Parts: sequence; C-alpha cells; structure tokens
Amino acid sequence: MGGGEILVVEDNARNMALLRDVLQATGYGTLQAFSGREAVALAQAYWPALVLMDIRLSDMDGTEALRLLRANERTASIPVLAVTAQAMAGDRERFLAAGFDGYLSKPIDVDGLLATVRLHHRRRSADLEPNS
Ligand code: MN
Repeated sequence: MGGGEILVVEDNARNMALLRDVLQATGYGTLQAFSGREAVALAQAYWPALVLMDIRLSDMDGTEALRLLRANERTASIPVLAVTAQAMAGDRERFLAAGFDGYLSKPIDVDGLLATVRLHHRRRSADLEPNS
C-alpha cells in the first residue's frame, strides 16, 4: 500500500529539484519519475497518494501517461495534477476535460502548488478512511 507519497513526474532536472524540495520541506514524501514510462511503473509499484504530471515528457505526452494510469485498475483512482508550461487560454478546462484532477502552470507558484496539493492529498486520504 502507498504511504502517502507524492509522485513527481518531470523530465527537467531543475524543475524536478524545485518541486521535490518544496514538497519535502512541507513534509511530504516524494517519488521521482523522469519519463512517462517510469511514472507508470512507479505508480504501480508504490501507489502514491498524488501524482504531479509534467505534460511535455521525453517519451510520451503527460496526457498519454495519465491514460495509462487510468486504464489500470490499481492506479486508476490516484489523483493526477497536470503541470505545464503551456500558458494558453483554456488550458485548465482542456486538462480537466482530459481527465486530470487539477492543473498547475509553470513557473510554479509555491503557495498555489501547496494549496492544490493539500486539497487533493487530503481528498485522497479521506477516501482511504473506512467509514468516511
Ligand atoms: Mn517537460
């Protein structure tokens, strides 16, 4: 079973370090995946509480990685937030329509990141309580 970790999927080392450091400093455990393929494998193995999914990855689009997570029974219900540098009008609606649970744009605003992470992490934790 998962231990409440957050899986960070990001192919840029600098962005990965930023996200990891902010989350760890806040008290979250993190897992790191640098590709879509690695993200799917780690999600299967560790069943994280939440996934932050970069959209532009080297091996596949983050939306394709989301599709793979949703297609598997074990990982289908893990909340996944899209993280993208494409700051285009309608992005939020487009990513939510694609099945993401939330959306964060780069450059990352730390307060916004933590508020969104907290919301989805808590929602997932509540799902795991037997009588809620
Ligand atoms: Mn990227």
